[in-house]
Amino acid sequence: MRRKLVVANWKMHGSRARNRQLLDAVKPPLQSLAGRVDIAVCPAHLHLGETVAALAGSNIRPGAQNLYGLAEGAMTGETSASMLVDCGAEFVILGHSERRGHLGETDAEVADKFAAARESGLIPILCVGETRAERDAGETEAVVSRQLDAVTEKTGMEAMRGAVIAYEPVWAIGSGTPATPEQAQAVHAMLRERLARRSEEIAGGVRILYGGSMNAANAAELFAQPDIDGGLVGGASLKAEEFITICTSAGS
Ligand code: PEP
Repeated sequence: MRRKLVVANWKMHGSRARNRQLLDAVKPPLQSLAGRVDIAVCPAHLHLGETVAALAGSNIRPGAQNLYGLAEGAMTGETSASMLVDCGAEFVILGHSERRGHLGETDAEVADKFAAARESGLIPILCVGETRAERDAGETEAVVSRQLDAVTEKTGMEAMRGAVIAYEPVWAIGSGTPATPEQAQAVHAMLRERLARRSEEIAGGVRILYGGSMNAANAAELFAQPDIDGGLVGGASLKAEEFITICTSAGS
């Protein structure tokens, strides 16, 4: 039985004051979900330290939104996995479509980042997903398989043990139109089946989150699908009531 996981992706939003306000609002109600649903919040790197401090003693775990795939070195402006761990991060989002699409992040770079996360003890949240054009061309399976295989082929299946995948159709992110539960379930089941070809046991433990316009109104229906193990939530995670409702749906 996979416990559901809800991850807030704050993206490049927030300020020290706004983050504090948001966490003050969500921490007490979410405390009642301890032991029933796992919850994480991923702020911008600059806000990680204060977020970690604000989450101390709560059941919400801190994460980051990216890392650079080298242990350390001459790489101006970048942040390594070990730095994130040192600052208290437990999770890291990798290969988000905004990074793949706008910043040219490649499958190979995402695989390097995944390996670096694992080596440092971070739990990677590997984002995969197709664009609208790719879906319309019937390429969804090929695209997400390519994105997943780039990681498993580099790191081996053992590195997927306890890892998290987020299926985020690019056309659903920030659009207000999520995938239907059936569309999402079909891709989630396909991803799990692909992992199971390498190891059924490991595949059974990988949590596959759905991301893309998840909100308080649609979360329960998505969570009811057998292979949807939680959510990666963007816009709605910035609104306390929405995020509380989403986490509550995951825990019931
Ligand atoms: C995301 O970008 O990870 C995401 C899921 O965004 P939104 O919920 O705003 O669609």
